[in-house]
Amino acid sequence: MIGAFEGIDGAHSQLALEAYFRARSGAEGASTLGTPSFRAAAVAVSAGRADVGIVPIDNAIAGTVRDGYDLLLEFDLIPVAEVVWRMDHRLLGAPGTTLDDVREVLAHPLVLAECGKFLASLPNARAIPCEDTGIAAREVSRAGSSGLAAIAPPSAAVRYGLVELAPRVADHPENFTRFIVFRGRNTSHPALAVDESDGPRKTSLILVTSNAAGSLSRCLDIIAAAGISITKLESKPTLGRPQQAEFYLDIDGDLFDAEHAQSLADLRAAALDVHVIGSYRANAHVAAVPAGIAAPPIPLRDAMPSVKLAPQKKSSGASNTPRAARDSRPKGTRVRASGVEIGDGAFVLIAGPCSVESRQQVLETAFAVRDAGALMLRGGAFKPRTNPYAFQGLGWEGVTHLCEAGRATGMPTVSEVMSIDQVERMAAQIDVLQIGARNMQNFDLLKAVGRTGKPVLLKRGLSATIEELIAAAEYVLAEGNPNVILCERGIRTFETVTRNTLDLSSIPVLREKTHLPVIVDPSHGVGVRRWIAPMCRAAKAAGAHGLILEVHPNPPEALSDKDQALTFDDFREIVRELERVPIFDASSDKATLGA
Ligand code: PEP
Ligand code: MN
Repeated sequence: MIGAFEGIDGAHSQLALEAYFRARSGAEGASTLGTPSFRAAAVAVSAGRADVGIVPIDNAIAGTVRDGYDLLLEFDLIPVAEVVWRMDHRLLGAPGTTLDDVREVLAHPLVLAECGKFLASLPNARAIPCEDTGIAAREVSRAGSSGLAAIAPPSAAVRYGLVELAPRVADHPENFTRFIVFRGRNTSHPALAVDESDGPRKTSLILVTSNAAGSLSRCLDIIAAAGISITKLESKPTLGRPQQAEFYLDIDGDLFDAEHAQSLADLRAAALDVHVIGSYRANAHVAAVPAGIAAPPIPLRDAMPSVKLAPQKKSSGASNTPRAARDSRPKGTRVRASGVEIGDGAFVLIAGPCSVESRQQVLETAFAVRDAGALMLRGGAFKPRTNPYAFQGLGWEGVTHLCEAGRATGMPTVSEVMSIDQVERMAAQIDVLQIGARNMQNFDLLKAVGRTGKPVLLKRGLSATIEELIAAAEYVLAEGNPNVILCERGIRTFETVTRNTLDLSSIPVLREKTHLPVIVDPSHGVGVRRWIAPMCRAAKAAGAHGLILEVHPNPPEALSDKDQALTFDDFREIVRELERVPIFDASSDKATLGA
């Protein structure tokens, strides 16, 4: 069995995972796989490169780790067990260092938050956030005695040849972190069976309620009436939706037990939305506190194990795109990008300029489209142009302006990534990575965006069939990234009066064949400003989950795609018209569910 964690050897997540393995019969010989982030650990499990993963969900001192909950939901992962891990924080330095020498303390940001009082007691030392505990210890070891120290557990001292400069540096001795061990939806290692059948259980869920008086208390009453106790309740504002609040709840027991079926149904009726993260074995393991630095070393491994992608269980239709197939997720996927969700239940407008041309242009457009009702901001920085002498986009400068406009307006950003070498830097800044029509079958690029785990907006190729679009999406999904939005943007036909032929019939087909959200790009679809509005109305009526539209402060001056750029007034008018088109309710039309 292989378990993925964030960090390198010595990270707390790895120690907690190893303790979990030690306590499971059938997990002997299990190994751990270090990854660069919590997200990468989720991707590794989702892709089958690891059987389980581990993420922290809260710490007694520092509080909830939202990423932990959000990733489980976003990647549709199954929580298996809770591991309550005592964090043993010591200040470690290279041999010869004294506490007075220390000028910089490296630690994971969560660990820094847990040790604030001790850090404040070191007047000459600055706290430096670092990717993880293992890396902090390794850096100190590499630097030798240079005034650098790390906060890490005793086992890291043994592993990296460090000495203890101060014991117990956490703000409180009872410093526990709760981790969740999770697995992918379609695979379960036999050693996990015990956690899925025996022992006390907990359930984690997110309740979305309206702001109206009493809406949270109605939900809590339902839980109380079922005799379920709540072990945690924390609120989080829903960004951009002041009328709504989200509550992170942990409750005792298994909400999926038959005895709670009615309570769960009542809860769903009382709340605006209930996202059940899952039920899992409570308190699967509490680690003993190792005494001092003589804690037994954990054997070093030379390299990460290299494993082949586990083949996905074939769905009943035995399709060759099993991860995209509707029957692998019959309820449909909702892709979440920084607070905005695309999928059943909402109709999302993405708008902005074809190309980012200047800071002023994208800021002005961003405010105009947001105020009109757009929820996401588009803007190309790297432009795929037919002619090499045409405007190629502002590149990284354009990305900077787009991100500023996104932050200023509170909208997640969408921008096209054209090559593999752009992927990592784009993924660090942009919320949704667009794969343009010309790159729909650039398979290495698809794999690269898949590995980021970031939402991907995949456009249909210029002359790609629907099946080819689905197969392209499968490339991203096969990397363990479930966050794909399909985009119909018109295809090449014998017709020349429109720029492309907007194939609105792909909407019901894609919705029947896949569980992925489908959006439409009428701007590129017709290429002529005055024909865009009717296609917007038709796309919504046909069941699209949203639109992506090009808007410019002064279309005749646009540096790319000026004939199809909407003015701010055009865009406002389209939003007004769309209000009169109802959101298509898939549950009312069996055909679209493939039933
Ligand atoms: C764009 O969205 O600006 C774009 C280039 O689109 P497509 O890849 O669909 O041509
Ligand atoms: Mn364009």
